[in-house]
Amino acid sequence: MIARTPLTWQSDGWQQELAAGFRRPHELLTAIGIAPGQIATGIDSDSAFSMRVPRAYARRMRRGDPADPLLRQVLPLADERQPAPGFTADPVGDHAARRGAGVLHKYRGRALLITTGACAIHCRYCFRRHFPYTEAHAADNEWEDAVNIIAGDASLREVILSGGDPLSLTTSRLARLVHKLEAIPHLARLRLHTRLPIVLPSRIEDGLIELLARGRLKPVMVVHANHPNEIDDEVRAALARLADTGIALFNQSVLLRGVNDDAMVLTELSEALFEAGVTPYYLHQLDRVQGAAHFEVDIDTARTLHRQLRENLPGYLVPQLVQEVAGEPFKRPV
Ligand SMILES: *Cc1c(COP(=O)(O)O)cnc(C)c1O
Ligand code: SF4
Repeated sequence: MIARTPLTWQSDGWQQELAAGFRRPHELLTAIGIAPGQIATGIDSDSAFSMRVPRAYARRMRRGDPADPLLRQVLPLADERQPAPGFTADPVGDHAARRGAGVLHKYRGRALLITTGACAIHCRYCFRRHFPYTEAHAADNEWEDAVNIIAGDASLREVILSGGDPLSLTTSRLARLVHKLEAIPHLARLRLHTRLPIVLPSRIEDGLIELLARGRLKPVMVVHANHPNEIDDEVRAALARLADTGIALFNQSVLLRGVNDDAMVLTELSEALFEAGVTPYYLHQLDRVQGAAHFEVDIDTARTLHRQLRENLPGYLVPQLVQEVAGEPFKRPV
């Protein structure tokens, strides 16, 4: 008898990888050759914002290095429980920008759609870690309410699919939304804010490429990498496929203490991104979300690092250093 390979294997590959990701700190640490006792500040094994790390991402961590910059982004530390003045649950004023059904309308011409609360990875510094996703995302009743809000506002030119991570939705679910958006005449662009091409590059499969290549709306993708070690051959291949499809590719990073608060690291990140067809876009000053205070880089250090980037790189490889201030009409340059 010939063993039959299920026909769905190819397209489901990324979902199986997603399900196989690390969920327990000790398991991850063992896999990369670190004893829990080596984490000086202590691990939080019981965080309400649980750990989640795809194996494809963990493979890029340096074995045996408790200070690895990728590990630091994802390992829940006891530090997160330390209250810090000025660090709140909604640092960027998202609640005030809600238009219902998961639509955030903060900036002119662009609406952001919270498509899902799910992410393939849980970044410990995430400003949405306390976001009330169960009441706020747009996937209910097949996107109908969110699409109606966008269709009813002719000032909008661009819809930004965000989350969570919009690429954690299946391609067919995403396609139903995209087709509805394509039917809205005042829209010109479809932007996706996603970390999946970086943390789970197998997500960039044929169906997704086809969906983005064939649509009426000009596709833009803003990926999210913070350190050059996040970009390996598999990631480069995924990004090359997206670029070949004609998708405009940009990157946003968050400036993070102990991860990328170093001019050489940021310089190498810009170089690595450009080599992979991605233009550096934003370098965000950390949003002051509860639990993330140990990642903060003070503003003077941030300015100094940014000046060093200007010295090291051509202007088109220097991301804009910005800070999101609730109530401002654009992300404020630092
Ligand atoms: C960041 C953001 C945007 C996009 O801003 P750009 O400056 O165009 O990248 C849009 N809406 C919301 C709610 C945002 O947070
Ligand atoms: S992928 Fe983005 S939304 Fe998800 S946890 Fe990381 S920073 Fe937050």
